Amino acid sequence: MNPNPLLSDPPSVESKDVAPKSEAVRILVVDDDEVDRMSILRALRHWTTPLEIVEASTGEAALEAFGASHFDAVLLDYRLPDMDGLDVLRRMTSGQLGSTAVIILTGMDNDALAEQCIEAGAQDFVLKQEISSRRLLRAIMHARMRHKIELDLLESREHLRKLAEQDQLTGLANRYFFDQSLRSAIARANRYNESLALLMLDLDDFKLVNDSQGHDVGDLMLRMVADRLREVVRDGDILCRLGGDEFAILTFRDGHDLNFHLLAERLVKVLIEPMMINGAQLTTAVSIGIAVFPENTTDAAELFKCADLAMYRAKSEGHNQICYFSEDLQNQVERRVQVEYDLRSAVSGNQLELFYQPQIYSEDEKICGAEALIRWNHPTRGLMGPGEFLDIAETTGQIVSIGAWVIETACNHMKEGLRRPDGSPIKVAVNISPRQIRESDIVALIRDNIERTGVNPHDLLVEVTESLLIDDLERTQAILDEVAALGVQIAIDDFGTGYSSLAYLKMLPLSTLKVDKSFLDYIPEGEKDCRMLKALIQMAHSMDFKVVVEGVETREQADVSRSYGADIFQGYYFAKPMPLLQLEERLKND
Ligand code: C2E
Ligand code: CA
Ligand code: CA
Repeated sequence: MNPNPLLSDPPSVESKDVAPKSEAVRILVVDDDEVDRMSILRALRHWTTPLEIVEASTGEAALEAFGASHFDAVLLDYRLPDMDGLDVLRRMTSGQLGSTAVIILTGMDNDALAEQCIEAGAQDFVLKQEISSRRLLRAIMHARMRHKIELDLLESREHLRKLAEQDQLTGLANRYFFDQSLRSAIARANRYNESLALLMLDLDDFKLVNDSQGHDVGDLMLRMVADRLREVVRDGDILCRLGGDEFAILTFRDGHDLNFHLLAERLVKVLIEPMMINGAQLTTAVSIGIAVFPENTTDAAELFKCADLAMYRAKSEGHNQICYFSEDLQNQVERRVQVEYDLRSAVSGNQLELFYQPQIYSEDEKICGAEALIRWNHPTRGLMGPGEFLDIAETTGQIVSIGAWVIETACNHMKEGLRRPDGSPIKVAVNISPRQIRESDIVALIRDNIERTGVNPHDLLVEVTESLLIDDLERTQAILDEVAALGVQIAIDDFGTGYSSLAYLKMLPLSTLKVDKSFLDYIPEGEKDCRMLKALIQMAHSMDFKVVVEGVETREQADVSRSYGADIFQGYYFAKPMPLLQLEERLKND
């Protein structure tokens, strides 16, 4: 046996991953039998391809050579003095074979052994007695080809994985990948007591961009948003596009840096910078919801829900808002869901009631009318005011049937005796919601109820708010014209709180302007407030509107308003909203 196991030049010190620069095929021949080695070398010599051959006569020497440089192929004798070929192979594969093809050479024909070797990562199994130039060439070429196929397969599998885990538009991770990461992050955080936050981002009004600028521009904007988000997140944070204009960031913090808010603020800051897209300058805004592990929940799916909920809250608060999940928020949502559910049976279950708040002539301080204000006798929660359920009814659309009930009921009351002791009627005002006008035939509804009950349309007043007018002014105008044509009066409610435009006032068939109670807040002490109230009343009068001053709570407020010319008062100072029977009593003594 040769004392030096490495029979040729010592291997170079290149790292084994780096393929040699020469075109030569590098082969490591491992055999303790010099004769066998020689016959192998002879067989290889017939090749036309330039070869670089390194020989080793023991397993250890082979492993050393293998570890030190790259080989295209290893011809490995199964029987070696220090270990068998399978051990050598296994130790080679644990360091990963890379692009090396291993061919096992053996003196015995043993199928089971052959199978074991292939399983351990060998590409071929050749009997020594069959060694010939062609056989070896074929084995090496086949091994290399097979190896290339394996690599391609691996690559396409990697490509598929990317396809499955990556968002094609932005190149960010997608929802699928995010869900996986979230679960493993939570598991790890649980194990190591880490803290992490899930930030849910949703662009505000992105639909507008798509609708007005086209989808191509929308896509470009999403890409730009993704790039900006990439800049802000830290290494190790997980950023993904959940879909549409929704993004999520999973961020980890150690005990000293729990300030997820700073990150959220930075996100808003980079996103609100204008973007140049196709030569146009566009801006966007974002709503961010934050849920924190483990404070809010220790469950992955729950954390997602919490962040989502917080994001919706942020969205409802306007543009570029950041909102944290909280128990409160959770309770509010649960309550909302419950109210929404219960509301379905409110009309059919006779749980709704109209209260009336008297309206008072400023001249003689006698009742001239009443505003119908809805109440809900909830079976378990008791008497609820409109502030507790009307916005829900408005978002769900239930307001349409509730509103119809209000008009029907008010007309019934007017017919049945909501009048003064001498029999003369009082005016009754009902509130109409924007959705009721948009989604139902309000004209037919009012007309039918007037005809059905025979009430004088002049005694009926509908109150609309300014928010109604921003949506679709022309259509609203046409509908209100028809309502006015029925003889019903129209009042603009809460005047001065919304998007007031004086232009609306002259376009709509209004008879009455209700000055919002906020104008009385600093009456009589606020000098400017007094002048403003006075000017408002004068302006309304100059357009021939009657003026109702709402929210009168003190004698002084009534007196000052009267001195400025207010026609009618409505407020707690005179009377709170009350049940029908109580109003009838009050009318008797008025
Ligand atoms: P609104 O139309 O401005 O009604 C006046 C609200 O101010 C009433 O609250 C009334 O109780 C309250 N108020 C009256 N005088 C005073 C006062 O002196 N001080 C204070 N602080 N408040 C006073 P309410 O009954 O809770 O109704 C709230 C809102 O709900 C109403 O505001 C109206 O916008 C809406 N609403 C009530 N009933 C209906 C309805 O049947 N249909 C629709 N669509 N909306 C309704
Ligand atoms: Ca009103
Ligand atoms: Ca009002």
